[in-house]
Amino acid sequence: MIANSKPVTSMTNDKKRVVVITGGSRGIGRAIGLRMADADTIIYFNYSSRNSQDAEETVRLVEEAGGSARAACVNVASQQEVQGFFNRIIEESGRVDVLVNNAGITIDGLLLRMKEADWDRVLAINLKGAFHCIQAVAKTMMKQRTGRIINMASVVGVMGNAGQANYVASKAGLIGLTKTAARELAPRGITVNAVAPGFIDTPMTAPLAEKVKEAMLAQIPLGRFGQPQDVAEVVAFLASDRASYITGQVIHVNGGMYM
Ligand code: NAP
Repeated sequence: MIANSKPVTSMTNDKKRVVVITGGSRGIGRAIGLRMADADTIIYFNYSSRNSQDAEETVRLVEEAGGSARAACVNVASQQEVQGFFNRIIEESGRVDVLVNNAGITIDGLLLRMKEADWDRVLAINLKGAFHCIQAVAKTMMKQRTGRIINMASVVGVMGNAGQANYVASKAGLIGLTKTAARELAPRGITVNAVAPGFIDTPMTAPLAEKVKEAMLAQIPLGRFGQPQDVAEVVAFLASDRASYITGQVIHVNGGMYM
């Protein structure tokens, strides 16, 4: 059972591949869970809102796809909550094969007007959250002598974007964290990569004004927004045996928006 949540399925998970996805209740995180769902995999994911409807729906969809999932309300910005989450996963499943640091938020505003609290909140979730999860899982993966860590960056982390200083800094920071963790963990057979999506159709981007969406679309050579599944495909590949010689990389999934 996972702290702060009800166990959504009860099952034995001997020898199953254990995949942990932060922010797995909707959007890209949900698509990753669905893409990786199969009878040999148990998916643990977290979310932070009080409303667990999205999380319950994700568990249902994973089960419908033939997999197993467990959801927990865990704020990645809290080191204590994250440590408790991983302790319970390891108690229950004995290992972690894949960690996807996907949880993220935006609180946009022009640099000159940005409130310190909004800077801190975005950095605490998007960047420090990933640090907490990597620290919590690294020892287990080092003992296993294998593991895959995938961090969800963003195209704006390499391009910059007016009105998103906090978000862009967090995503650029994640790329640096990815490369450093890749170097430190490579001797133990652990790969660490980042995926940098462009504009993806999810609840995060849905509220943007039509004018903003049109301006974004004009910058995308492939002429469409990405779907969460476009990102999930790349994550599934990086998590697989086929990607065993790839580490410290940033893989762009942006329809050509940045090249
Ligand atoms: P989304 O639909 O808003 O989903 C975000 C997920 O993160 C939700 O499950 C949310 O659950 C969870 N989350 C937020 N704060 C959290 C916290 N403190 N602790 C734990 N979980 C938390 O966003 P998305 O578009 O799928 O984005 C997923 C990732 O891709 C993010 O890192 C985002 O920056 C990145 N990305 C997205 C796009 C895009 O165009 N959509 C582009 C580039 C990169 P709760 O709300 O319940 O906390």
